Amino acid sequence: MLPDAPPNLATKAGHQTAENIVQLPFWRASPVLLLSTPLHLVCLALVLLAPSLWRWALSAVIANHVLILASVILSPRGRLLGPNMTRLPPAAAQRGEVALTFDDGPDPMVTPRVLDLLDRYGAKASFFCIGNKVLAYPELTREIIRRGHSVENHTNSHPHAFALFGPAAMRREIDSAQTAICETTGIAPSFFRAPMGFRNPLLAPVVARTGMHYVSWTRRGYDTVAKSAEQVLQRLQRGLAAGDILLLHDGRSIRTRNVSPPILEVLPRLLEHLRKHNLKPVALQTAGHVGKF
Ligand SMILES: [Zn+2]
Repeated sequence: MLPDAPPNLATKAGHQTAENIVQLPFWRASPVLLLSTPLHLVCLALVLLAPSLWRWALSAVIANHVLILASVILSPRGRLLGPNMTRLPPAAAQRGEVALTFDDGPDPMVTPRVLDLLDRYGAKASFFCIGNKVLAYPELTREIIRRGHSVENHTNSHPHAFALFGPAAMRREIDSAQTAICETTGIAPSFFRAPMGFRNPLLAPVVARTGMHYVSWTRRGYDTVAKSAEQVLQRLQRGLAAGDILLLHDGRSIRTRNVSPPILEVLPRLLEHLRKHNLKPVALQTAGHVGKF
């Protein structure tokens, strides 16, 4: 029988699964919002008091929106749009830990093989799952937890236009996935990652309300579009160091639907590399959270 979902996803369950997460993010306006709100008010006042200056006001507002757009598109690892974990805390880095994260699963063809590879190396990881795939493959999702990994929130349907959504639509995507994962595994995710890492300035308060942390990555392999496993490995291993968060995918893209996805060739070689350099692959929870990222 499935365990009941916790009554309040934003509080208890997330804490129970991440005992060493000692400090939840509290909502602060993102730097972009702090700049944009007064700027819009000043421009409005300017137009009301001195209508002839409307061109200056309009130019300032357009420049502001270009800055927002650039933050959304160019900076999935930036902090202009709100708190964003891009590395593990210093204590985890000192322990030689590296976080492995897998997006877009679970997938019945890829995920079981990824789990076997992780077992072979005694490695742990965090799986950023899509809510409707969790519901389609509940047993596989529970298997991820049974093998000692964590399941995190990667929206309910992985909409490519997520960064264009307003707060209500983003909340629906995040809450639906949180409920699907909670009802399937009995454990509330503690981390959220947006599809392709694209955010907008309104996401931070939505994520903070759930009690989750927003996490992106230190380096990613672009394994869903790379031409070869070699290319993916080069991207991940160049400059790789303790405290890094690595991003790969255990879901199948249209490109890899009928062929063996690169991750199955990349992962054993990456795990071998980590072992050789005394780096310990862990799930995000294990690494803990000690305040501000
Ligand atoms: Zn994704």
